[in-house]
Amino acid sequence: MNFLIEHQCPQCGAPAILKETDRLFSCEYCRVKSYLLQKDYFRYMFQSTVEEEKNLIFFPYWRFKGMLFSCVDSGIKHRFMDASHQAVESRYFPVSVGLRSQALKLNFVTPETAGYFLKPTLSFDNVMEIFANRLNTSLPKPIFHQSHIGETLSLIYSPFYIDGKIYDAILNKPVTPSPSNDFDAMRLPGGRPDKSIQFVPTLCPACGWDLIGQRDSLVLRCKNCNSVWRPSRNELKRMNFASILEREKNVFYLPFWRIRAEVSGITLNSYADLVKIANLPKAIQKGWDEVKFRFWTLAFKVRPQSFLRLGRNITLSQPQKKLEKELPDARIYPVTLPISEAIESLTINLASFMKPQKDLFPILQDITITPISYLLVYIPFVEKHHEFIQSDFHLTINKNQLALASNL
Ligand SMILES: [Zn+2]
Ligand SMILES: [Zn+2]
Repeated sequence: MNFLIEHQCPQCGAPAILKETDRLFSCEYCRVKSYLLQKDYFRYMFQSTVEEEKNLIFFPYWRFKGMLFSCVDSGIKHRFMDASHQAVESRYFPVSVGLRSQALKLNFVTPETAGYFLKPTLSFDNVMEIFANRLNTSLPKPIFHQSHIGETLSLIYSPFYIDGKIYDAILNKPVTPSPSNDFDAMRLPGGRPDKSIQFVPTLCPACGWDLIGQRDSLVLRCKNCNSVWRPSRNELKRMNFASILEREKNVFYLPFWRIRAEVSGITLNSYADLVKIANLPKAIQKGWDEVKFRFWTLAFKVRPQSFLRLGRNITLSQPQKKLEKELPDARIYPVTLPISEAIESLTINLASFMKPQKDLFPILQDITITPISYLLVYIPFVEKHHEFIQSDFHLTINKNQLALASNL
């Protein structure tokens, strides 16, 4: 599910509704384009609907949307998750945001918002453990490895006020029977919210040209000086990229991350090592131990099953085609999965091709994968009626599924 966010154009103040995944905002009124930067994660809030003036307390919830992969005896199990949970442990407040987020629009938290904002005291990892434990009751044991690959991690504040009891300031109803006398929400750590988002102009920092990208793009491209930019805390930063160029008609480019990493616990440095670990039906050729191994993962969202299959196929293919530092002059699919999440997926990527899984899954817990460098690579696909096909690397992506992925 995708939240909707009420917003005002930073340039002209016109109201707008953003999707949760929107990064590139173009105002319908003043036509100005701006790009949304976040400090660490997005902080959203529900508005109070209570008419009288109340001293509002904003209670925080971690919200995770993404995939959970688990390696068990019978293979890799996956789940799509969309859940929220208290970021402050308290028996007085509802344990999750519940379903209200589907019906109500959110706002960005800004430093001007009046109210007392409780500080999260449970880390996101604590909460992820709670989510995982809940799901794990239905999984066969032992679980050899588990990774969550999040497309969204955010903090959602919900308003409450105290009038003898704790009242939900959206429903205007008490949420719990009277708290004990020593309960004082204002003594919980908190205060004014700080500035966490920022809009920057979508002009190329190098040449001043208009950057291009789709509304949910995590990177922007400059056609003028052939550069690619990603958001960082306060600015757009230049990013290394390359393309495998194909001068054919009907070509559609999809973004992938190529990641070089140090793998400890097993030997996986070269193509020869990969052939052994994946138990590929190939005789190892001379020179294959000189060919460096690299992980490849998708730089866009798809359903967990496809994410796993495509990542495995391209990593097994180890593309060696000529990489050019040039943006393709064709349609390009936006980067919607950040490098940080691609890195989180490397152990699952490895688990997806190691064979036999029976012998190798138990050693997964001794393996650490440390990323060293990464590159964004645009790979050409041929457009067919129902799918995009990249036959060299054995990749097929269903068009429908790609269209639906923007709602994941
Ligand atoms: Zn505007
Ligand atoms: Zn430029």
